[in-house]
Amino acid sequence: MKILVVEDDKSVLNLITTTLKIHQYNFVSAMSGTEAVSLCASHAPDLILLDLGLPDMDGMEVIKTVRTWSNAVIIIISARGEDADKIAALDAGADDYITKPFSIDELLARIRAAQRRMTFVSSESVESPVFINGNLKINYASNLVYVNEEEVHLTAIEYKLLCLLAKNAGKVLTHSYIIRKIWGNEMETDIVSLRVYMTALRKKLRKDPAEEDMIRTHIGIGYQMLKK
Ligand code: CA
Repeated sequence: MKILVVEDDKSVLNLITTTLKIHQYNFVSAMSGTEAVSLCASHAPDLILLDLGLPDMDGMEVIKTVRTWSNAVIIIISARGEDADKIAALDAGADDYITKPFSIDELLARIRAAQRRMTFVSSESVESPVFINGNLKINYASNLVYVNEEEVHLTAIEYKLLCLLAKNAGKVLTHSYIIRKIWGNEMETDIVSLRVYMTALRKKLRKDPAEEDMIRTHIGIGYQMLKK
């Protein structure tokens, strides 16, 4: 797993990179948004640890730019702890959020959880290379999703959610089951964030407004992919 660390504060950057070194993670680091985008293009990291307050551009811009081509897991590390900031970052395509000041243990737990999610998706791929349900097609081998033969661009988390629902098509999955499967037991992802991801995912899958959504919401319980 390749990690890109983006942080303009030298002391925080040192803390993160020293931790990664000790735990033998493979990483590169950037101290500006421009450098981050260019390293992301040249190194294709699997995971990006991203500070939002950068000298040349806002971290939100970095997420939006990188998301147009990269499926990397993006974990925000920011002093902005408001719910609105978190939701905006998750909406823009980030996968997780750590508020400064953070502990080393927390950082490592989030990285491990990200790793598990990557393994989770790749182990899914072995079972059946292509999933088809109505107008939806998932090619697990290439991580590509199509609706009516048209490619749909999903973020890493949206893709994992879709794979989880697809694997359990017809079954109702509870909020806590989904959160546990996607984020792992160490995570404190809440139902509000899950709802944000699901709303974004459903919007991307909906091609014909007249047609019933393939993903059904069971209020207070969870979500279900309908078998078509
Ligand atoms: Ca900063």
